[in-house]
Amino acid sequence: MYLLGHIGSALICYIMISYIFKNDNWDHKRNQILISIGVILPDLLDKPIGALIFGIGRWIGHSILFQLSFYLIVKIVVQKYKPGFYKKYDIEILLTGAIIHLIGDLPGLPIETIFWPMLGGFEISGNSSFLLGYQNIETIITEIGGVLVITILGLTQKWRINSWKIVFALIAFYELLFLIVYFLLVGT
Ligand SMILES: [Zn+2]
Repeated sequence: MYLLGHIGSALICYIMISYIFKNDNWDHKRNQILISIGVILPDLLDKPIGALIFGIGRWIGHSILFQLSFYLIVKIVVQKYKPGFYKKYDIEILLTGAIIHLIGDLPGLPIETIFWPMLGGFEISGNSSFLLGYQNIETIITEIGGVLVITILGLTQKWRINSWKIVFALIAFYELLFLIVYFLLVGT
């Protein structure tokens, strides 16, 4: 799954969770942004370093043990310094997103990676293999699905024009970045 598909799946999970635990105190917009960041964190962490330098597209960010350790460290730091922007459960929402990422990647994600280092090492896939996922029809469908989920959410929550601009500028930036990296690594 690529980034938009991951974001779509995380937003659907968030909508279901917030429906089940109906709570008027929840800041939905903030939580949706956080879970969307959380769900792309494993790839943001693994792709630039792992794929481009070591040829391993899915490594520590896709390991549940690393995610939990990282969560604990951030939680301890945040509890100690209590930064002004921090709200209770922010880190848990990010972690939930990161775990949803693993579920979204499951069809092709080796069990050894998820439970690294308990079951073995990471799979070396080459530094451009993660760019070829678009050839799978499931990737295209989940990417379009992600954009649809974001659009439906924006319409039902009556986003202001500025929110639409930011969201679609980010999507355009992501697609452009993908194209640039693709032409640099894979070529025409
Ligand atoms: Zn991934």
